[in-house]
Amino acid sequence: MANLLWLQGGACSGNTMSFLNAEEPSACDLVTDFGINVLWHPSLGIELGENLQKLLRDCVSGAIPLDIFVFEGTVVTAPNGTGMWNRFAGRPMQDWVSDLSKAAQFVVAIGDCATWGGIPATAPNPSESKGLQFLKRAKGGYLGDAFVAKSGLPVINVPGCPAHPDWITQIVVAVATGRAGDIGLDEFQRPKTFFQSFTQTGCTRNMHFAYKVSATEFGQRKGCLFYDLGCRGPMTHSPCNRILWNRQSSKTRAGMPCMGCTEPEFPFFDLAPGTVFKTQTVMGVPKELPLGVDKKGYIALTSAAKNAAPRWAEQDIFVV
Ligand code: SF4
Ligand code: SF4
Repeated sequence: MANLLWLQGGACSGNTMSFLNAEEPSACDLVTDFGINVLWHPSLGIELGENLQKLLRDCVSGAIPLDIFVFEGTVVTAPNGTGMWNRFAGRPMQDWVSDLSKAAQFVVAIGDCATWGGIPATAPNPSESKGLQFLKRAKGGYLGDAFVAKSGLPVINVPGCPAHPDWITQIVVAVATGRAGDIGLDEFQRPKTFFQSFTQTGCTRNMHFAYKVSATEFGQRKGCLFYDLGCRGPMTHSPCNRILWNRQSSKTRAGMPCMGCTEPEFPFFDLAPGTVFKTQTVMGVPKELPLGVDKKGYIALTSAAKNAAPRWAEQDIFVV
């Protein structure tokens, strides 16, 4: 039996919605098949008021052993570091986050807001939001660079806006069943099993990427979304085309560019007008190239690819 507590800071509840839609395993499977005891969750918990405060205090004191502390949303520290803009159960949420993180065996940040700050931490960041252990790409965040939970692991980051349902439940199960050591974390503390490959891995438009055939509108059934529509699939670490959404599709399969939501900088360019769904170029060359490709190599590769493109690459071949 592993006790799990889930709290929510500056959030839209998107990751809770995602969690409740999980299929492999489902949220119910966590309880019935994997022995996870959900102590409290914002959408599922029944305790209120003093009862909830007592439960949280018992987790902090150790009277109730806290195995997994899951946090969704940013840590709101405004105004002036007090956290008073986000009070919960009688005190600033940030104080509960500090105490519960110290008490837990494992701390898991779910979604971009909890991992790196996400949209709320975008400049000018009026809520002074931070991720649990990162603020965008900078390590530290709210808990600080040196934080490790009782297990010895830092915060396990499961990013996404929202995170895919099954990324959430599979990581929770791995931790609850004693396999946390097998997860392996990358430099941003993301589980490598999900975040070592790219959104582009498994994309049905890869042939069009290779021949530099571009889609020019959302939903087109041919063409790659990188050249004009700002797709970040070649530089975003996610399994979105390996572990499909709703078990059947992904953004790029549906003709919608990947926006890079699993990377610390999301949303890119601070959402400045003209930067979303538009490939930023200098002299016709994208400012950001596929990870590991240099400018010279890109120019050589794409000019050869365009010349070599077969006629079918321009036809509607239903890559959705
Ligand atoms: S649509 Fe995006 S992910 Fe798919 S091949 Fe093109 S750049 Fe890569
Ligand atoms: S396709 Fe890209 S933007 Fe969409 S969920 Fe996956 S990583 Fe995020």
